[in-house]
Amino acid sequence: MVVDINNVIKKLNLMAKVGGTLDGGISRLALSEADKQARDLLVSWMKELDLLVSIDDVGNIYGRMEGKNPDANPLVLGSHLDSLENSGIYDGILGILIPLEIIRVFKEKSLIPEKPIIVGNFTNEEGFRFKPLMSGSGVLSGDFDIESVYKERDSDGKSFKEELEKIGYLGARENRLDKAEAFIELHQEQGPILDLKKTPIGVVEGILGLTWLTVTLEGRTDNSGPTPMYARQDTLTTAAKMITFAEEFASEISEHGIITVGQIINEPNNINAVPGLTKLTLDIREINDELRIDAVKELKEKLREIAVDSKVKISFEIDWELNSTIFSSELNEAVRNAVDYYEYPSKEMVSGAGHISTYMNNICPTTMIFVPSINGISHSPAEKTEWEDIEKSAEVLIYVVKKIAKAESKVTF
Ligand SMILES: [Zn+2]
Repeated sequence: MVVDINNVIKKLNLMAKVGGTLDGGISRLALSEADKQARDLLVSWMKELDLLVSIDDVGNIYGRMEGKNPDANPLVLGSHLDSLENSGIYDGILGILIPLEIIRVFKEKSLIPEKPIIVGNFTNEEGFRFKPLMSGSGVLSGDFDIESVYKERDSDGKSFKEELEKIGYLGARENRLDKAEAFIELHQEQGPILDLKKTPIGVVEGILGLTWLTVTLEGRTDNSGPTPMYARQDTLTTAAKMITFAEEFASEISEHGIITVGQIINEPNNINAVPGLTKLTLDIREINDELRIDAVKELKEKLREIAVDSKVKISFEIDWELNSTIFSSELNEAVRNAVDYYEYPSKEMVSGAGHISTYMNNICPTTMIFVPSINGISHSPAEKTEWEDIEKSAEVLIYVVKKIAKAESKVTF
């Protein structure tokens, strides 16, 4: 192994103390005091490696290692330091610490790549304190406007811009990353697939597109006792049939099709009342956008039929739609080559969750490398990845970085 995983372990443990919670998790909400401390620590590590540090106007941090050709577009590696409330210590941070270790190895071997390499921390990935999710990368890709991001307020009424300024990370617009050779984000899978298959590396084809739909059912509220079953317009039993249908329908979309009913509002929600108003949300995800759009159409038709059968009125509202992200096949080929080189087991997969890479993919060829989440747990103090697997992912990443940044060494490693 060329990577010294102990360096990564040491840094991860130091970082875990920043915003650390009593049960071993972290609360490092974007632009909080803990986020500031984590950023300061990261910047100090970047400076130890002689990286040129710059901050842009949305607070993204870049640590740049110059290449032999300073005019070449940089290879960017990165993820995020921010977290949800009481989240896990691996999410995001692995995608920053492993690139730092790779740079350390390059320096140790006096290996200067042709292209510059940037290690990045992208602001507010989680979107927990400030909406929208992934504002740091979304501003770079032009999907979000900086002025509207600045105006976002947290639940205490504090604005994004004030808080960014307060923690000392309001940088200059001209520092924004606008061009890159490629972006690679190493990340925990946040699902159970790799762990179930005992596979250390996931080759990520893309990120599922999604449609969020709210279904409103209007029936009639009645007293339960005096209303016979045949005379009811019960919206909750109607919703139950819909949920059962949706669960079965998901597997008909494709092998990646996912439908989740995560929220129900039921009125009057009393033990002795026939429900007369029920709202349910549907989160429909699929990698193929056409299949998803067709599936939503078909699903709506079927739910309408169920509503008619139950003498209930139905209406739909689309809350959010996002097309899928298809990552660079060339970068994925490089990841596959690396995996073959080391003879590590790997799995082709898609990401069910959104990531910084969603928006980076709009700027430059992008991909992700997944490592297992033990028991599929993430966003929890219990999240964990075996160091053995993290070490393998680091070897894979260094192989890919050498190829993409054109770092040729006399000595093989
Ligand atoms: Zn993450």
